[in-house]
Amino acid sequence: MKTFTLEALEKQVLLERFLRYVRIDTQSDDESSTFPTTEKQKDLGRLLVQELEELGCDDAAMDRWGYVTATLPGNLPAEQVPVVGFLAHMDTYPGTPGGGVKPQVIRDYPGGDIALPGTPDQPLPVAKNPNLARCLGHTIVTTDGTTLLGADDKAGIAIIMTLVDWLRTHPETPHGPLRIGFTPDEEVGHGTDHFDVAAFGARYAYTVDGAELGEIEDESFCADTAIVTITGHETHPGHAKGTMINAVRIASAIVERLPQAHLPETTAGRESFLHPHHLNGSVTQAELKLLVRAFSEAELAQREADLAKAVSEAQAAFPGCVIRTVIKPSYRNMGIKIAEDPKVLDYALEAITRQGITPLRKPIRGGTDGSRLSYMGLLTPNLFDGAQSYHSVHEWVSLEWMAASVECCLQITQVWAEKGGR
Ligand SMILES: [Zn+2]
Repeated sequence: MKTFTLEALEKQVLLERFLRYVRIDTQSDDESSTFPTTEKQKDLGRLLVQELEELGCDDAAMDRWGYVTATLPGNLPAEQVPVVGFLAHMDTYPGTPGGGVKPQVIRDYPGGDIALPGTPDQPLPVAKNPNLARCLGHTIVTTDGTTLLGADDKAGIAIIMTLVDWLRTHPETPHGPLRIGFTPDEEVGHGTDHFDVAAFGARYAYTVDGAELGEIEDESFCADTAIVTITGHETHPGHAKGTMINAVRIASAIVERLPQAHLPETTAGRESFLHPHHLNGSVTQAELKLLVRAFSEAELAQREADLAKAVSEAQAAFPGCVIRTVIKPSYRNMGIKIAEDPKVLDYALEAITRQGITPLRKPIRGGTDGSRLSYMGLLTPNLFDGAQSYHSVHEWVSLEWMAASVECCLQITQVWAEKGGR
């Protein structure tokens, strides 16, 4: 069975691509009401269009929303192999400084904490990054300690560009048609708002936005947001006896009644939670926002029933108040959709295994663009990109793990080419 191994020069090109992309500031902005939320994401978009054209993708383009798409035509008879998409997001997390990234490249990593030039007193600690110990001898990229790296998800972009480059320079390798998509605003939850699945023209895709070697994620949370609005009754506090109804105390009573066993800080793995994350209010009115998260719709409904119970008890304890709860659906577990046509996952598992890597299949305690895309008709599990400590000034990536991701993507195209749409 054929396995893929990038040569030293190809790895060097992969590294240079990655370093080029992380130096471009593409932070999204959750306060912004424009789309994309920041214009600067298009700076990277324009560069990617140009590079895709140089790699022979004649139709490479960026639309007005900032989505970059391109096609690598297949070299097998038409219709024999379905179109397969590879996706990564261009924006970086807005909650950590993300401009002026100064990547630090450590060749032949010898082990131990990694000194960061911008924060001499705070090296990147092995204790909190145990996967560093698995990367001895690797080329590691960190920041200078003052910004995030943006390997989330520019590692994914560099991997996909290298996949296209490799297939173009190895035309003897049979593969079906590939569609490439680079998206804005994933970090602020809007990555798929204007994504045109019909125009993308694929039923199967992979986001390359996971973390450690071998990771493949085909399940995400089902997510709702609950907004509880409490209306009380204000009076002069000196003459309030028997008349004041305090919305602040009612909000507190609701939070107090939430089940302790189902909070983010008390759950892990496949457990569900109800998370009061925002509270704003006065005696007259208070608004409490909660995130509801579970892996099944049934459990999501249970957590919402917990909230309804807390609300009705609070209502009973404070006669005269008015409490209104609105539930807004956010996204659903992509595993439910993928299970309807699981080859997109099965082929990836087979590809990773063929490359001699043990697939690390885990449910995401969150959502990805794939969570929404899978419900929009594009089944999209998430594949590893080799990056670690996302969203932090200690974010780092192993070049060898990035290369392994390219090799797994190549192998995925081979499994598809062999099996076709079966
Ligand atoms: Zn990401």
